[in-house]
Amino acid sequence: MKRRTFFRSGIAGAAGITVLGSSAIAPGSRSDEGEIVYRALGKTGLRLPVVSFGVMRSDNPSLVRAAYEGGMKMFDTAHGYMNGRNEEMLGNYFSTIPRESFVLATKVKPAGVDSRTGLPSKETTAEAFLSMFNLSLSRLKMDYVDILYMHSAESVEMVRHKEIVRAMLDLKKQGKVRFIGISTHKNEALVINTMAEDGIWDVVLTSYNYRHTYRAELDDAIDKAAAAGMGVVAMKTMAGGWLDRERTKPVNARAALRWVISNPNVHTTIPGITAFDQLETDLTVMKDIALTDEEKSELVADASFPGLFCNACSNCVPGCPNNLPIPELMRAYMYAYGYRNAAMASELLSETAVKADPCASCKTCSASCVRGFDLKDKISDIARLVNVPYDLIA
Ligand code: SF4
Ligand code: SF4
Repeated sequence: MKRRTFFRSGIAGAAGITVLGSSAIAPGSRSDEGEIVYRALGKTGLRLPVVSFGVMRSDNPSLVRAAYEGGMKMFDTAHGYMNGRNEEMLGNYFSTIPRESFVLATKVKPAGVDSRTGLPSKETTAEAFLSMFNLSLSRLKMDYVDILYMHSAESVEMVRHKEIVRAMLDLKKQGKVRFIGISTHKNEALVINTMAEDGIWDVVLTSYNYRHTYRAELDDAIDKAAAAGMGVVAMKTMAGGWLDRERTKPVNARAALRWVISNPNVHTTIPGITAFDQLETDLTVMKDIALTDEEKSELVADASFPGLFCNACSNCVPGCPNNLPIPELMRAYMYAYGYRNAAMASELLSETAVKADPCASCKTCSASCVRGFDLKDKISDIARLVNVPYDLIA
């Protein structure tokens, strides 16, 4: 959809624009026809539309403007997205918008965390974390962010990393952060359960979609988080967006998003939005969350395809004699082929420090994927990016 066409239809549907906290509708309910559905974000006091904006791959302020004018309130970025350009773009756009009318969430990934084990090292310091956070604040041109996540934690050791947690609590005391949280793409249930036990966290951002193979465990953790008063935000809601590498079979985005929202303990979602037609779909779901029987059947049928989404269950890892970080490699594959974002794939590959063609020593693959991925084929394919200089694709 062209930008102009979007603004014609999108802004006409923007009657739901409200300042946060007003015109709230009961959590989990459907509003009157055409109005935005809100839920409380745990005990934060924020009430947000069930759909927010995952800005990660978008550098287009017109898209952000259209989302804001269409009624979205929360915009989610991270220190590392687009080498900082994502935060800069949001900072420029929101510099003229009343600060209390939107919610800005960003994430900082602690330095020195081992991507295979999720464990910290001596480089994982509060000093490095705070230095990145301060840079984020200056890029965003803001005095504070509403939510600061420790980015991509996957171990108890990181959830309870004394120095980083203390630094985050201090930022909250200083008013530079309103709420603290953790984002997690791996061992999510463990991370969320630990957060709920510790009682200091305001929000969790978790990977969650209809293709997860350990959903019961994740659902239980989400219920526990909500019962503990934490806000629950879902990402990776579209499960990679496509079912095949060639992008001939798309995931039904509307159905996938409604499926996530059908869990009343998911308070809002951050689908990644890079185009006006995606935004239009997300704004529609924001006002009509009911998953139809036809959509349910379609998701059930789609789930039988391997697809592009690896839910990081790590079941394959013990079968690999080379101890490859397979979940991270599969995520890089999804970024490259599902998101068509080679830069993100390349950044993730460089974190794993794998060499090009890491499967060369195996005639056949002894690791097996619960989703039926051909691991050797996919890893050999994505690892080619290791030899491509980052500045050619960023
Ligand atoms: S082919 Fe690759 S993923 Fe499979 S066992 Fe060998 S090194 Fe591991
Ligand atoms: S590749 Fe398959 S088995 Fe391995 S972590 Fe991903 S979904 Fe699980």
